[in-house]
Amino acid sequence: MQTLFNVRSATWRLGCHCFALIRWLFYEILPILKTVALSISLMKRMCYNMAMLSLERGLHNKIVDFHVHIFPDDIAERALSALLAAYHVEAVTDGTVSGLLAHMETSGVGWSVAQPVATKPSQVRSINDWAASHSDPRIISFGAIHPDCEDPVGEVEKLIARGLPGIKIQGNWQNVYVDDPRMYPIYEAAQDRLIVMFHSGEELAPFEEMKATPARIAKVCSDFPNLTIIAAHMGGYRMWDEVEEQLLGKDVYFDTSACFPEDLPDERFLRLIRTHGVERILFATDSPFGDATKDIPRLMQMGLSDDELEMIFWGNARRLLGDRLS
Ligand SMILES: [Zn+2]
Repeated sequence: MQTLFNVRSATWRLGCHCFALIRWLFYEILPILKTVALSISLMKRMCYNMAMLSLERGLHNKIVDFHVHIFPDDIAERALSALLAAYHVEAVTDGTVSGLLAHMETSGVGWSVAQPVATKPSQVRSINDWAASHSDPRIISFGAIHPDCEDPVGEVEKLIARGLPGIKIQGNWQNVYVDDPRMYPIYEAAQDRLIVMFHSGEELAPFEEMKATPARIAKVCSDFPNLTIIAAHMGGYRMWDEVEEQLLGKDVYFDTSACFPEDLPDERFLRLIRTHGVERILFATDSPFGDATKDIPRLMQMGLSDDELEMIFWGNARRLLGDRLS
């Protein structure tokens, strides 16, 4: 009987302790954790603001995002949801011009360079009509091209006549190797006159074979020495060993878009930038799939000097785009 009483009393005491512990966690610890979480997010925000302030001091807000995607208002939702479903990522804008401009205001980006892709030959003309129609000076657009459109060289000539600075080629989505002989008349016509931006490397979306590898881009570089080439995603998304073998130090620009820290740690990112040559690096986000409010402070905290940052955010883009950045 005494034993039973002891067990009951012990259980009761244990229950009381547990209750007190839960009460203590709920009323004492939870508010502390909440305060800590709030402080961390405030500190992050402050760091970003301080970084932006010092950037503005040095750069006077001259930041060019060299790789963004936008769509006409009436198809933006459809186009973006198809891409998000393929890439399994979240978007930082709604894919419209006004959505991009609002995000540029928040992040401190002064100019964005749109990189449209024609996945079908029939899209080339309408995409290029739209690309040439942007009236806001903060939006500069490349044109689209497809080797199977009716007159690819004629389209290149039209883009040049309209004053567009370049063309975007996305080998995987366009189902064409970047060094396919069908592409060569396009490069021939663009040489010395238009910049060519290639998607380079792997994809977040599933593709059987990558058609724009660093090695294939290196071949185009050597076949067209006067062609100004930008290999997106630091020369080859998630193929950085091949970038080091094939492209590093060559006369080709890299953009910094979609080099997420989990794929390209800061240390290797910085080494790639400096070994390739900071004068050939362009800041870019691949918006709406990348976020300038994360990518700008990341680059600023990587250990680059003010002069190097000025070249990446502004100087190199200015050399390529000239008075379009005004
Ligand atoms: Zn892109």
